Amino acid sequence: MKIMSVNAGSSSLKFSLFEMSNETCIASGYFERVGIEGGFYTIKFNGEKIKEEVEMPNHVVAVEVLLDRLISLGIISSLDEIDAVGHRVAHGGDKFDKSVVITDSVMEDIRRFAEIAPLHNPANIAGIEAVQKALPNVPMTAVFDTAFHQTMDKLNYIYAIPYEYYEKYSIRKYGFHGTSYSYVSKKLAEIVGRDDLKSIICHIGSGGSICAVKNGKCVNTSMGYSPLDGIVMGTRSGNIDPSITTVIMDKEGLNASEVISVFNKKSGLLGLSGVSNDCRDVENGVKEGNERCKLAIDKFVQSVVNYIAQYYVELGGIDALVFTAGIGENGPEIRSQVVEKLACLGIKIDSEKNNVRGKLTDITADDSSAKVFVIPTDEELMIAKDTLDLVR
Ligand code: ADP
Repeated sequence: MKIMSVNAGSSSLKFSLFEMSNETCIASGYFERVGIEGGFYTIKFNGEKIKEEVEMPNHVVAVEVLLDRLISLGIISSLDEIDAVGHRVAHGGDKFDKSVVITDSVMEDIRRFAEIAPLHNPANIAGIEAVQKALPNVPMTAVFDTAFHQTMDKLNYIYAIPYEYYEKYSIRKYGFHGTSYSYVSKKLAEIVGRDDLKSIICHIGSGGSICAVKNGKCVNTSMGYSPLDGIVMGTRSGNIDPSITTVIMDKEGLNASEVISVFNKKSGLLGLSGVSNDCRDVENGVKEGNERCKLAIDKFVQSVVNYIAQYYVELGGIDALVFTAGIGENGPEIRSQVVEKLACLGIKIDSEKNNVRGKLTDITADDSSAKVFVIPTDEELMIAKDTLDLVR
């Protein structure tokens, strides 16, 4: 059985095609500059990377090009081979606590939640509609980034602002990266051979969040109503005092959404270092003695540690600490800086084992109070697995 996972962004479309009998990725690709001049795609297949420039005025054309190339490149011989398609959907509001088969009423809900995810859900909808048009008889599912966090207690998702905003506008914490946490927490249970675990998972990439997981369910997470909240990220500030907004509006002559855009796009590692949003560049800056790069990395590490400490207490101790996503998987330096600050909790890593990139590894030191793992995430495979479960 072949299942395709699709992740449509506002000007992009990512796909992975899996053979589910052995859970292998047959081909994957990235279509960029959809709806913008200068479109191109890259498709990885059979150890090769194919790149082609092609104008894609909208997602419908991007999907047409994708399906056409799947056949012309010999990845599949007919579209009938695609048994189901799973779509990543950013926001499932407080309605979806798991993945679902897409129906008209599900589409209506996804449209409704576009109000709380204006940057993401409309693009996801465009992706779904484009694939529906091209493959009208293929079952499709929606896999929500927020679903995993729906098990949070109200105490953790409610904000201490007038309660009617929660009632009238659904303003509450939702959390994101749920597909990644779902995958990683299942993998962790598999490795340890138990699912009654208390763990803290650090999904740290260019966007990042931390999640407290108990018995495979989310207890708390660092992102909030939007993905701006929580730890310091590549270009995002993470949590800050909201009153800073009006001060910057006054001083810089910006409106509220322009200031939020500064917090989203010009802050974090980029804003502090003034060098880059890419952790590797900022780490290189530190090596060259750049003080602001050092400040950026230290602030980033501190923000991760603060959440780990909070969730350690909230969970009443942990069995495992897990690092995943771009920095979590590939950044031994950052991992070691984070864990160094957890020494008072007895959590320690083995520096030799920690010298690893992108590989599932137990990096626990012999005398650590909790296990520490690097577990590469695979959101696309998770989408395909959920889809397989639903269409079976
Ligand atoms: P996203 O999916 O949120 O766009 P990723 O999970 O791909 O982000 O993570 C991107 C981040 O991972 C970048 O900051 C990049 O610097 C970092 N990263 C990737 N490889 C390494 C590495 N070898 N060492 C340190 N950081 C790395």
